[in-house]
Amino acid sequence: MRAKGARRGTVVVISAPSGCGKTTVINRLLARNPGWRRSVSVTTRKPRNGEVPGEDYFFVSRKEFLSERRKKNFLEWAEVFGEYYGTPRPYVLNQLYGGRHVILAIDIYGARAVRKQIRCLSIFLMPPSLDDLEKRLRRRRSDSVRAIRERLAHAQFEIACAKEYDYVVVNGEIDVAVRAIEDITKSQR
Ligand code: 5GP
Repeated sequence: MRAKGARRGTVVVISAPSGCGKTTVINRLLARNPGWRRSVSVTTRKPRNGEVPGEDYFFVSRKEFLSERRKKNFLEWAEVFGEYYGTPRPYVLNQLYGGRHVILAIDIYGARAVRKQIRCLSIFLMPPSLDDLEKRLRRRRSDSVRAIRERLAHAQFEIACAKEYDYVVVNGEIDVAVRAIEDITKSQR
């Protein structure tokens, strides 16, 4: 329940090509702004090295995902690289009504779906260049050569969709990108 007179939080949608450093940027935003929350998505993809269930994602089977989808428990969902990803609706709404900003780290299809349903602020995090993105993907090691190629090709398509977003922030220097997102979000109040 929202306290009487309390302001609703803002949904901040952040999309970025895979490997662009979005997780690092978001973790830093959360560390600097203790009142902000990140929605933890549900996915059918397997965890990568170092990923923590319940922190990075809720990892579920396809059967479990489809069952949650049938119950309309996702604010939005999408199939990305052959795996399902979804944003838990109850969590996001509870945080918003509690007056907290909620970051959704979702892809362009998810961003389109969320824009249709609720008022939100959308930010596209742009890699400084495709070369830089390729280097970051290779450093990740847990992705196969084929997966890297697929993600790079998809990145070019995503970058072409950046104009759909309210703001584009280049993730060259992490701290500069973090401060830009903070300023944009705080100016919405
Ligand atoms: P990754 O597998 O690299 O963590 O994520 C692949 C893509 O799925 C990224 O673009 C990421 O933003 C997107 N994604 C993660 N969670 C969700 C979600 O809940 N909904 C949607 N639509 N996309 C998501």
